[in-house]
Amino acid sequence: MYKSIIIGTGPAGLTAAIYLARANMQPLVIEGLQPGGQLTTTTEIENFPGFPEGIMGPELMDNMRKQAERFGAEFKSGWVEQVDFSERPFKVKVEGMGELEAESIIISTGASARYLGIPGEQDNVGRGVSTCATCDGFFFRNKKIVVVGGGDSAMEEASFLTRFATNVTVVNRREELRASKIMQDRAKDNPKISWALNRKPVEVVAGDMGVKGLKVLNNETGQEELIEADGVFVAIGHTPNTDFLKGHVHLDGHGYVLVTPGTTETNIPGVFACGDVQDTRYRQAITAAGSGCMAAMDCEKYLEGHMIHDWSEALDK
Ligand code: NDP
Repeated sequence: MYKSIIIGTGPAGLTAAIYLARANMQPLVIEGLQPGGQLTTTTEIENFPGFPEGIMGPELMDNMRKQAERFGAEFKSGWVEQVDFSERPFKVKVEGMGELEAESIIISTGASARYLGIPGEQDNVGRGVSTCATCDGFFFRNKKIVVVGGGDSAMEEASFLTRFATNVTVVNRREELRASKIMQDRAKDNPKISWALNRKPVEVVAGDMGVKGLKVLNNETGQEELIEADGVFVAIGHTPNTDFLKGHVHLDGHGYVLVTPGTTETNIPGVFACGDVQDTRYRQAITAAGSGCMAAMDCEKYLEGHMIHDWSEALDK
């Protein structure tokens, strides 16, 4: 039995952990398959306040985790299989750990990289297809790379991958890019980046020796073309990690957790959500961290009047 269980360890969950631990709530933090969340798959973060020279994503997350541990947050690794929020204490079933109980829950499971769903893609994940430039870019030294997508992620990945590749081609299904102007300009100024706009990915073409390229449909000519490449990096956005919450807490049509605007409260009193799992608009490390702070404060306030367990004995120990 815990006062609070935090599910997910991106900037939202870890900030909530820092705040709850400092408030003497001894939260249990459950780390899933990607401890530290999406920022551990990114390179340098230039816009997180307090780091004028920038900081590497994994280092920032490691620092946040250490900060939470310093104040008494407990960490366990495991995959949350099931939840029961029908009555308190809430129940969280974790693979290999059984059922845990808590007076309150903070959901901060973030979002995961999306795939194109085209032939050849899944068969070649780890063999030339990737969603993480930081993780896999190194393997494409002096090779040709295709990056799919037109958002900030695609621009960032393409720019980063030019450190390794001889050439990076950005494939976007429309003529216009969705990315912010500053990120677009940076990529457009990079002589190693070429552009295949208005082209829809059709198939990842691979042979025995790995990926050969990406087949695309040229929307203008109606013809298929093969863009030769040794690696295909897919950067087309994310899906919220909420499968385990379906039917237990209100979600929107895309699967994001619905919260009362201006708060982190879900439809279940005592269950809070923060970070990308409930944010379809800002999705930044700093906004995730900010909402993690909000969740911890909302949670603390809620527990002030709603403790069902007598914690005095536990505190005396
Ligand atoms: P976005 O949703 O912004 O962009 C997704 C891109 O993928 C779009 O160009 C979209 O095309 C394309 N796409 C989606 N589905 C498909 C498909 N099936 N086939 C082909 N193309 C597809 O996602 P991002 O991950 O780029 O960014 C998410 C958020 O994170 C944004 O708010 C962004 O600003 C932020 N971010 C900020 C960074 C920074 O500031 N350093 C770095 C990375 C992300 P279309 O436009 O046609 O829909």
